[in-house]
Amino acid sequence: MKCRKCLKKAIIYMPEHRLALCSACYSPWFLDYTERTIRKFKMFSRRDRVLVAVSGGKDSLSLWHALNALGYEADGFYIDLGIVGSNNYSEQSKQRCFELAERIGRRLHVVSVAEEVGAPIPEIKDLTAREACSACGLIKRYFMNRYALEAEYNVIATGHNLDDEVAVLFSNVLNWNRGYLARQYPVLDEREGLKKKVKPFVYFTEKQTTVYALVNRIAYVRDECPYALGATTLSYKDLLAQLEHQAPGTKRRFLDGFYQIRALFAEAEATALVPCSRCGQPTTTEVCAYCRLVEHVERRRSAAVPVRKVAASEAAGVRPIEHEELSLHHPGS
Ligand SMILES: [Zn+2]
Ligand SMILES: [Zn+2]
Repeated sequence: MKCRKCLKKAIIYMPEHRLALCSACYSPWFLDYTERTIRKFKMFSRRDRVLVAVSGGKDSLSLWHALNALGYEADGFYIDLGIVGSNNYSEQSKQRCFELAERIGRRLHVVSVAEEVGAPIPEIKDLTAREACSACGLIKRYFMNRYALEAEYNVIATGHNLDDEVAVLFSNVLNWNRGYLARQYPVLDEREGLKKKVKPFVYFTEKQTTVYALVNRIAYVRDECPYALGATTLSYKDLLAQLEHQAPGTKRRFLDGFYQIRALFAEAEATALVPCSRCGQPTTTEVCAYCRLVEHVERRRSAAVPVRKVAASEAAGVRPIEHEELSLHHPGS
């Protein structure tokens, strides 16, 4: 197959765009498409200071690289989760972020969960008897917002791609999760202490961001987070990949169609936000979910009892009250 622009050998064919491109023509197309998405959703301008949440994976590092190539003021923000796993996951991820920071000459801010919360993610997971992903998501959203406020960034950008967004949408629709549906959009404007959040890669597939990383020789961590394996989202992704294979463009139609009717869910978003009485960050409760998590971890650690796995009462479906109080689905995120 030949590149549509220069007729050299193509390295990628994108059936949803009916477009084949060679390695030299790929990056210019990708950057142009990124720019168009940023403008379409009025995400930010070259006067804004953008904080890119980087994980060390291909999506977020490609995003940081692309925004820099397009001339935006974009610095990186890495949250060290303290996950060791079989391959020293967090340490490797942090290294990849530092390498790119040096290459593009931008700042990388690093925050450590172990230092801030008092325990790394694997320990938090055990102490709270929660899925690692829900605690992790809460902590990430909290730090991104607090840090962007403190360091005076106007916008937080994340590397979510089309495959991520469609899988999440699919899950939210299956469960008719009105609150989440109301907030699923590539740009969420600033409100009541919550910084503006954007997803400039929302129209790129995972394959497209991977090819961008490869063509630009961006070193990234290939492994998924060890805790993400087997997550339901991954099975939705497989299912959606089959649908996309049968009818290219299905994912994009599903997502864009939702964006058009999203206003129907807007009422669920109307919950008022108030400053947390402990840390001042916006929340819908008196003490925010993050502060409650920190308090819970501190209490558990100071109790110095061996980590309890699943107690009989929990196994029987009766959860101790403190776990119920610890709502990790931060409504204001
Ligand atoms: Zn070409
Ligand atoms: Zn708080």
